[in-house]
Amino acid sequence: MRIEALPRFRLAQLPTPIEELKSLSRELGGPKLLIKRDDQTGLALGGNKTRKLEFLVGQALEQGADTLVTAGAAQSNHCRQTAAAAARAGLRCELLLNGTKPELPNGNLLLDELLGARIHWVQRSEREAKLSEIPDELRKQGDKPYMIPVGGSNGVGATGYVLAMMELAEQLNGMNRRVDHVVFASSSGGTQAGIVVGAKVTGFKGKLHGVSIDKDDGDGATYECELADIANETAKYVGFDAQFAAGDFTVAYDYLGGGYGVVSDLEREAIRLLASCEGVIIDQVYTGRAMGALLDLIRKKAFRSDETVLFWHTGGAPALFAYANDLTRIFHIRSAGSRAAPSE
Ligand SMILES: *Cc1c(COP(=O)(O)O)cnc(C)c1O
Repeated sequence: MRIEALPRFRLAQLPTPIEELKSLSRELGGPKLLIKRDDQTGLALGGNKTRKLEFLVGQALEQGADTLVTAGAAQSNHCRQTAAAAARAGLRCELLLNGTKPELPNGNLLLDELLGARIHWVQRSEREAKLSEIPDELRKQGDKPYMIPVGGSNGVGATGYVLAMMELAEQLNGMNRRVDHVVFASSSGGTQAGIVVGAKVTGFKGKLHGVSIDKDDGDGATYECELADIANETAKYVGFDAQFAAGDFTVAYDYLGGGYGVVSDLEREAIRLLASCEGVIIDQVYTGRAMGALLDLIRKKAFRSDETVLFWHTGGAPALFAYANDLTRIFHIRSAGSRAAPSE
C-alpha cells in the first residue's frame, strides 16, 4: 500500500475523538455505545467530506488546478466543505446546487456564500448536462477546473475513509476496546466504500452497517454494485491488492421514509434524544436517519447487550437551522432539560 505517498492537502483535525454514549446506552438498556466524532473534523463546521477532500484537493493541486467544481443539494454539506477546502487551498470554487435561489440563504447555503463559492442554480434533471458543460466553459476562460463528483465519492475521495479506518483501529487499540458493529449514514457511497476497504486493510473484525439515506434497494443490488466499484477504484488508488464485490457491503434500506431530506418522527426523535441525553447534535438528513435506524435496531434487539456498537457521526448539523420548521413540529418538551417525546 502507498497511502502515505499519495498527494494530500491537510484540512482535518485528526484523529477525531471517540466518546462513550453512557446515558443513551443506559436509557436504551444496552448495548455499549461509542460515537466517532467526524462532525468535529474541524474544517468550517466539519463533517465526513473533509477527509475525502484532503485527497481530492491533494490531487487537484498536483494537477495544477485553480478551481474546484462540484454539485449537490441546496443544503449540501459536501458543497460547504468543498467551498471551505478551496478557500483554505487558495482555489476558486464553483458549486452547482439543485433548485432555485432562496430569498434568504441559511444553513450550509449561507456558509457557501460566506466562503466565497460561486453558485449556479440548476434543476436536478439538468444537472448532469450542466456539470459536463462547466469544465469546458471554465477552460475557455483560461481556468483550470478540477471536477469533484457528488459527495466526493470516487476512489480518490474514499481514500480518506481508508485512512479513517486505520485511525479507528489505532484508537481502539490504544483504548483496549473492541467494536462489534459500526453504523453510519450512506448516500453517495464514498464513506462506506472507504470504510470497507479500510476494514480489510486493518483486519477489522466488526460488522459494517451502512444506513441508506436515499438509495432504494432497486433491482440486483444496484447500490452495492456502485459501492463495489468505488471500493475497487479506491483499492487501486491506494495500491492495496484486493477485489470487492456487491456481497461485501451491508446496507439497510428500511429507513428511507419519504425520501432524501424528508424529515419524519424517526429523525426528530433521534435528534432530540441525542441532544437531551448526550449533548450531541446530529442532523435531520443523514445522521438523524442513521441514528434513528440504530435506535430501532437496538429496540428490536438486533445487538446483544454485551456488544459494543460504534456510531460514526458524519456531520451535517449546520443544515439544522434551515430545517427549523420541520424540527419543531409535532414534538413537545416534557420539561426543561428532560427527554422530548413525540406528542402523537
Ligand atoms: C455526505 C454525507 C453522508 C454520506 O456519505 P457518503 O460518502 O455520501 O455516502 C453522511 N452524513 C453526512 C452528514 C453527509 O454530509
